[in-house]
Amino acid sequence: MSRYDFKEHDPFAPIVYTYPNTALLHRETSKYQEIQIRQHPHFGRMLILDDVVQLTERDEFFYHEMLVHPVLNTHPDPKHVLIIGGGDGGSMRETLRHKGVESVTLAEIDERVVAVSREYFPTLRSGFEDPRAEVVFTDGIKHVQNPPRKYDAIIVDSTDPVGPAENLFAGDFYKAAAEALTENGLFVTQSESLMFHAEFVTEVHNRLKAAFPIADCYAQSIATYAGNWWTFSVGSKQLNPRTPQRRPRMATRLYSAEVHRKAFLAKSIMKKLAAGTIDW
Ligand code: SAM
Repeated sequence: MSRYDFKEHDPFAPIVYTYPNTALLHRETSKYQEIQIRQHPHFGRMLILDDVVQLTERDEFFYHEMLVHPVLNTHPDPKHVLIIGGGDGGSMRETLRHKGVESVTLAEIDERVVAVSREYFPTLRSGFEDPRAEVVFTDGIKHVQNPPRKYDAIIVDSTDPVGPAENLFAGDFYKAAAEALTENGLFVTQSESLMFHAEFVTEVHNRLKAAFPIADCYAQSIATYAGNWWTFSVGSKQLNPRTPQRRPRMATRLYSAEVHRKAFLAKSIMKKLAAGTIDW
């Protein structure tokens, strides 16, 4: 095996992805995690945290567009948005496409992820230069418990539910997030693969149901996330996330109003999800 083959070690996946022929461009260990940047012939540059692929230049838009636009287009006029995690800048770039957004606060616990991402990912870093953007290096949980303002949308773009990210999937956190939202605010979190982690997706869904009047789930295939059928779980205080209220003209590569509607899980699957009877 070539000395540059990168083997992903996702503690939650029953498979191991190997990315042959990658070149190591950067490696360091921050206070929170090991950070690698690798270059792959097909995927381009890759951000890897503790041996788990977070994004690749080639397919990051599948994730960032689908994490951000459904809730921001469900809201009639989102002005203040909080992103938790997201230190690579991709979610902030997508949020700032919404011209009516007046402020985006990025609460990222690890400032080294921001520094390294700004250096190695020119296609993701535009948001950091935007005057509407504010980066705070803090635990997103603490920020939500004492929010400096109410938000129209809270977007959790975190690592897998281990370490500092673990409690970003807890019921108490969802309740605090609901408090930190405006009266018609929306919450969304990446919530792992429905193929490999159905039980966990059920737990997240039911915790959101306990914290919000409306809880729902949509999914997007993402080639570089083990399990592929990647879910995004929504909590909403008033609005139905299945019906976009706005269709702003944006230069998105995947997201559209039709993709928005079709991404939500079929009612038959939602029923199994809520009941915890998904059996694959
Ligand atoms: N797209 C990736 C995914 O879905 O797996 C996430 C990418 S982003 C780099 C994940 C970020 O969440 C990391 O930079 C990590 O430092 C941050 N993070 C983890 N726990 C956090 C917490 N409690 N508060 C704020 N940021 C956190």
